[in-house]
Amino acid sequence: MDGTQMIDSGAMLAQVRAWSAINTGTANLAGLAEQAAALAEAFAALPGKIELVDPAPVTAIAADGSAFAKPHGQHLVVRVRPQANRRILLTGHMDTVFPADHPFQRQTWLDGETLNGPGVADMKGGIAVMLHALLAFEQTAAATGLGYDVLINSDEETGSLASAALIAELAAGKLAALTYEPAALPDGTLAHERGGTGNYSIIITGKSAHAGRNPEEGRNAVVAGADLILRLKALESAAITINPAKLEGGSTNNVVPDHAVLRFNIRPKTVKAGTEFDHTLRYLLVDIEIAHQVSTHCHGGVTRPPKTVDARAQALFDLVRACGVELGQDIRWKSTGGVCDGNNIAACGVPVVDTMGVRGGAIHSPDEYLIVPSLAERTALSARVIERLAQGAIS
Ligand SMILES: [Zn+2]
Repeated sequence: MDGTQMIDSGAMLAQVRAWSAINTGTANLAGLAEQAAALAEAFAALPGKIELVDPAPVTAIAADGSAFAKPHGQHLVVRVRPQANRRILLTGHMDTVFPADHPFQRQTWLDGETLNGPGVADMKGGIAVMLHALLAFEQTAAATGLGYDVLINSDEETGSLASAALIAELAAGKLAALTYEPAALPDGTLAHERGGTGNYSIIITGKSAHAGRNPEEGRNAVVAGADLILRLKALESAAITINPAKLEGGSTNNVVPDHAVLRFNIRPKTVKAGTEFDHTLRYLLVDIEIAHQVSTHCHGGVTRPPKTVDARAQALFDLVRACGVELGQDIRWKSTGGVCDGNNIAACGVPVVDTMGVRGGAIHSPDEYLIVPSLAERTALSARVIERLAQGAIS
């Protein structure tokens, strides 16, 4: 028995197709509101209480160096049996990387069981897996013994800055968490350890002057930014990679630029590497200020700490694997450099498997696809894992 008999895969596919048709680029607030309403309706099939939670305020840096408030969509939270002793967290995201004006908006069948479309794998398919696994679980005798919270945030693809505090709040006190990112490989392989990520904007302020008349009185912010890029790159090691991504600044050719903004991303492999980098950066900025007689302002930092797998987290992986064996699914795992909300949950000390979603691939590209039979297959896997958690599989 593969456990998929009780699962309405036709209803699942219809939901994924309807949800994929709603554009939910992280900045498309109207689309996100429509999606949140559709999800609230679908999740009303569970016994819990549904709530739309306002996003936390997020400040970003414009090209001119000024700070501005970045708007986000609301997050969906469902709480079921909050008084239960054993409680878990299930998370997903409703946003995609495709903005409202992106050419990739439609679904196309690639063959009889492969659907190409925005968010079908990452992760509207995964949300359907989560919902239907919970619906199947609610039919079991074990259901009364487990409480759970569901979080579907609106900003995962841009780093969950408007939901990080909510994730931490909901993770607190949970014995385990399941996140419905697509499998790491199309064969269903799970993501195991993950590196971390951090994003920085460095605002550099120099002094403008005429490039011909008095250049010696100018302090060139773009040159200081270029110097900073080279010095950042020199800090790379086996424990951290650094990607200077964008240097903006300056105006016309005859003006010494007094302003620049450098954006870069770091990928620390350990918590220590991230902390050490942040510390070193402060000294580096002082060096740049002295060398170029400019001032600097640092915005940002590590937003998703590296996710390591400790003994408790490994026990959850082993449980997923054992449930897979019962269903005739061979579940493996591998480490990855990608990040997701699983990083945030693991940082709270809660064991998490964060790739419980569908099998598919080419995510974040117009070739994104969902292997449709994986909807029922992964739902059966999740339902079994949740049932085992209710029965005391992890302590
Ligand atoms: Zn995702």
